Amino acid sequence: MGTANGRKSIFITGAASGMGRETARLFRQKGWFIGGYDVNADGLSALEKELGADNCVVRKLDVTDKTDYEKALAEFGAATGGKMDILYNNAGIGVGGFFDEQPFEDILRVVRVNFIGVLNGIHSAIGLLKATPGSLCFTTSSSSATYGMPGIAVYSATKHAVKGLTEALSIEFRRYGVRAADTLPGLIDTAILPPGTADRAPKEGMFRLIQPIEVAKIVWEAYNSDKLHWYVPEEIGDLDKAAGNNPEQVREQIVQMMAFAETLNADPKKQ
Ligand code: NAD
Repeated sequence: MGTANGRKSIFITGAASGMGRETARLFRQKGWFIGGYDVNADGLSALEKELGADNCVVRKLDVTDKTDYEKALAEFGAATGGKMDILYNNAGIGVGGFFDEQPFEDILRVVRVNFIGVLNGIHSAIGLLKATPGSLCFTTSSSSATYGMPGIAVYSATKHAVKGLTEALSIEFRRYGVRAADTLPGLIDTAILPPGTADRAPKEGMFRLIQPIEVAKIVWEAYNSDKLHWYVPEEIGDLDKAAGNNPEQVREQIVQMMAFAETLNADPKKQ
């Protein structure tokens, strides 16, 4: 039967930090068996210590490496008796700055981790998900998948891709009884935020600073639901609706919001 010993199991990428780590802790409290994967080996060791070696399998994994991803899944399957109740594609990186000013290799890296990494995971794990009644394929998208965000254009594009992929797979995977859903978090207090962001965050509104445990709770709720998109906080859903109904108006709101609105509006003749 393997180390999981009949317990429900969740495979989490980006588990060494932030939302992934909080999700691992919450599901452990609920009695689940945890698979924790990340490029951060120190963070994984700390996680393993906290969860207890009998309650988890942790392993270094770069989600961009499909071959190694398959090996990690085979090891996880050996520990769970070929089952996986949740695949949580959560690993992600953010690189900020104007699109045209970024080295092209940095742009490709964001696509590889945030989107190809998700494809690697789902394509390799579908066998385990299919073998597990009521399983869920869950992915971290972002509030930046509501409207393309300047300053993080490619990050935002990868999160749109994740959202579209989830919608399509939530229909395709019905033939296996596997659900697909995602979360679109606003501003979450984790290491991915550029230094100083947490201090500058608005005190209220949809982009107020939220603790990563709130996203972990959403993963738990999602397992017990058939809802497709989980907005954290819920008001991000209003932004999504507005962007769908009137993208030009939302575009102007975002221009107003951005700290560099002045640069965007500058008269090129005066530069
Ligand atoms: P985080 O930096 O605390 O956690 C991300 C984890 O992913 C890190 O432990 C990192 O080592 C890991 N990782 C990076 N590249 C990897 C790779 N190639 N393979 C495996 N692991 C890798 O940040 P977080 O906020 O908890 O991020 C989790 C997810 O949430 C990301 O997908 C991020 O884009 C998304 N997100 C974050 C926010 C926010 O405000 N923090 C908002 C919306 C979406």
